[in-house]
Amino acid sequence: MDARLTQGEPRLLLDIDALATNLRTLRRTIGATVRLCAVVKADAYGHSAPLVASMIDEIEQAEPFLRVDQYAVATFDEAAALHEFGKPLMLLRPLENAFLGRQRELIEHAVLSGWTLTLASAAAADDVARIAMHLQKRANVQIMLDTGMSRCGVSDAGFDAVLERTLYHASLKLAGVSTHFVNSEISGDPLTTRQLRAFNAVIDRHPILENVPKHAANSGGIFFCPRAHLDVVRPGIALYGIDPVGRPSTDRPLRPIMKWTAPIIALHDRAPGESVGYGQTWTAIEPARIAIVPVGYADGYPRCAGNRAMMIVNGHPCGVVGRVSMDMTAIDVTRAGDVTIGDEVTVLDNDPLSPASVYALANIAGTIPYEIFVRIGPRVRRVAAHHVGSEETALNDESL
Ligand SMILES: *Cc1c(COP(=O)(O)O)cnc(C)c1O
Repeated sequence: MDARLTQGEPRLLLDIDALATNLRTLRRTIGATVRLCAVVKADAYGHSAPLVASMIDEIEQAEPFLRVDQYAVATFDEAAALHEFGKPLMLLRPLENAFLGRQRELIEHAVLSGWTLTLASAAAADDVARIAMHLQKRANVQIMLDTGMSRCGVSDAGFDAVLERTLYHASLKLAGVSTHFVNSEISGDPLTTRQLRAFNAVIDRHPILENVPKHAANSGGIFFCPRAHLDVVRPGIALYGIDPVGRPSTDRPLRPIMKWTAPIIALHDRAPGESVGYGQTWTAIEPARIAIVPVGYADGYPRCAGNRAMMIVNGHPCGVVGRVSMDMTAIDVTRAGDVTIGDEVTVLDNDPLSPASVYALANIAGTIPYEIFVRIGPRVRRVAAHHVGSEETALNDESL
């Protein structure tokens, strides 16, 4: 959809130029030969995976150096949503053989589609091999090693058995070996080095793995542990322009690609003593101009932002007043100059230093930018655009 057609409704503007900046930063950091696997699980962290993939296609056409080699998702449905883009797909969530019965059709579809499935047990290797043999296809699989995350992946002690079963089956093609870091966003954290050493030690035990793609680094690992780049890297949050340390840094040119806007749909003047919203949690102490924005907690704007967060109108920070309701939020535009119905409000700013940035909102909500992003609901239309302006200019292209 053309960005101009959506001005009268809440929308996420996704900036193609910002995405290109982030891809350039990542590509410069990893060099030309390491493969870049863009992590687009959870609908590209709430941005819309198909839209982000089409933006990436456009960027690659203009600048082949900024290529994305493959995509990583968590689930079968997420893989299906990206199949038409024609890039190799990996499913990060390991198959658990206890569910294989129920997932048989999904696995068949994945094998026929050529997607790479992640394994973390010998039993799962056997089961996928059987399904693939039945289809007379080779299934692409990768083995995930747990080096300290204790979430999923096979332990060091169990690895050899999974590898042995994987290599044993002619219907399995070993397409990768991976691990995942616990503290990658903390520069110099010794656990990252220990995890990488444990991973490499397992690899070194098996000369047969020499030509199998190995990968470990998410965004934090890419920036803080160059030795972890290996054959493939798996950036997620950095693609979307958010610094993995959780606050903007001038060390790495990353630009948030998302700007969430919505029009003002009502304006009220409130006299001292009059309150706004459910529970009367905000009361005017001087004459106030209140604007209503058609975005609420049903859209993923955190309810706890009431009386705490800021939105931006005409370049002015405007406090959220009263409780955030399901479909609407009130802001104080008393000091925002001339404001009329239909004016655009920046709900979440793409300027990382703005008081309405995702960093600021995550801080208020006691969470991380990842969670703010993935909770943005389906009612907010996602649109791609070029050169999306930001309300503040403190950290623009030139200063990065
Ligand atoms: C989500 C995820 C990533 C991406 O992490 P970021 O911190 O967003 O870069 C990489 N690898 C795995 C296994 C993941 O689950």
